[in-house]
Amino acid sequence: SLSDRLTSALKDLRGKGRLTDADIDATAREIRLALLEADVALPVVREFISRIKERAKGAEVSGALNPAQQVVKIVNEELTGILGGESRPLNYAKQPPTVIMLAGLQGAGKTTLAGKLANWFKSQKHTPMLVACDLQRPGAVDQLKIVGDRANVPVFAPHPGTSVGGDGEPIGVAEPVDVANRAIAHARAKMHDVVIVDTAGRLGIDEELMAQARGIRDAVEPDETFFVLDAMVGQDAVTTAEAFRDGVGFTGVVLTKLDGDARGGAALSVRELTGTPIMFASNGEKLEDFDVFHPDRMASRILGMGDVLSLIEQAETVFDQKQAEEAASKIGSGELTLEDFLDQMLMIRRMGPLGNIIGMLPGGKEMKDAVGDIDEKYLDRIQAIIRGMTPEERANPKIINGSRRLRIANGSGVKVSDVNQLVDRFFEAKKMMGRMAGQMGMPGSRSATK
Ligand code: GDP
Ligand code: MG
Repeated sequence: SLSDRLTSALKDLRGKGRLTDADIDATAREIRLALLEADVALPVVREFISRIKERAKGAEVSGALNPAQQVVKIVNEELTGILGGESRPLNYAKQPPTVIMLAGLQGAGKTTLAGKLANWFKSQKHTPMLVACDLQRPGAVDQLKIVGDRANVPVFAPHPGTSVGGDGEPIGVAEPVDVANRAIAHARAKMHDVVIVDTAGRLGIDEELMAQARGIRDAVEPDETFFVLDAMVGQDAVTTAEAFRDGVGFTGVVLTKLDGDARGGAALSVRELTGTPIMFASNGEKLEDFDVFHPDRMASRILGMGDVLSLIEQAETVFDQKQAEEAASKIGSGELTLEDFLDQMLMIRRMGPLGNIIGMLPGGKEMKDAVGDIDEKYLDRIQAIIRGMTPEERANPKIINGSRRLRIANGSGVKVSDVNQLVDRFFEAKKMMGRMAGQMGMPGSRSATK
């Protein structure tokens, strides 16, 4: 499988310290195959790969990952970014009801989705109503009614073969646009704050279908139009999406049938080519088989190498733990230097928001309280000061006398009082951490080695 191929590619590259063009090319080739196998459209694959290569070339080599792992990590991040890029909350109408129209080919899963959406809105304390505007297929209205019953949500529909609508209200001739118009008025009167409009689809794209969908759109003025896309369709997704974009227009995509075995490259193609966010995902026939869209899950599915990705995550976690343990042991033994301090700080800053990280360190809670609010500018200053010291000064801060402090301050563009403060704090922290480590029996601390 692809995952095996990549794992062996990863093995080949293990131990190399630097990201070479050859490494990048080799890994990019495998990624390219992965995307094509996942049915991502060719132009999208090309564009994506060239972007990855660009980014990989400029990437800093991390201590935790080998070069191939690093490329894969970049790919995963980039893919997750594209899939989730500019994800946004739903557009709700200023004046209820919020109208959501579903469009897509027949069998895409619109009617099923209508029920799931209604169920979801209910769980968000809304009062949704479904509207049957698929009058094309015999049974379509009944299907929506069954779905509505299941979700326990009212369905506004023309009675089959007659001219009577939901709640026995006469609606005249059962024309989709007419049904839509009356449904909105009905929702307003009955205080339904969300209206979900199910529409007809065809097996292929055709102009009559598009014209009908446009007619419904113009009548209901939807706040959201979702293009419903069967994740199994593969390469055709792009043509269909473009036809619906040009014919009706849509504001979001919903992927369905993700419980199938398709890798779902269509998601990436459609996201890239239409620039429209993917809002929800359907993964089964039941009402609950539904969730907001998770870009990270989709990225790992498209790459088809969840195991490789979790390996990478593990490698990084172990690396961070190792560094934290080393630091803890140095703290315990009183050997902490300003050099370690700087290393720690750089590592910590690479890892993201400080509060989270400090909480992960042994004794993190106490340390967090002791350090108080850390602002990033302050960290920049500390970093500059330590960088302005000689290796000897970093290793043995005791030698940093008045004239050295002045030199360091001038060299790093801060005030002497800033240098004083850092050195004082360092000694204070060291003392305090030594005590803390002793109390906690950390490796290397006096009480632990007794
Ligand atoms: P529509 O023609 O777009 O309204 O599509 P339907 O909602 O009628 O769905 C077509 C078929 O796909 C039905 O048999 C559904 O039960 C099924 N279906 C819809 N969504 C999903 C899904 O997420 N997973 C699976 N396995 N089947 C689905
Ligand atoms: Mg339907």
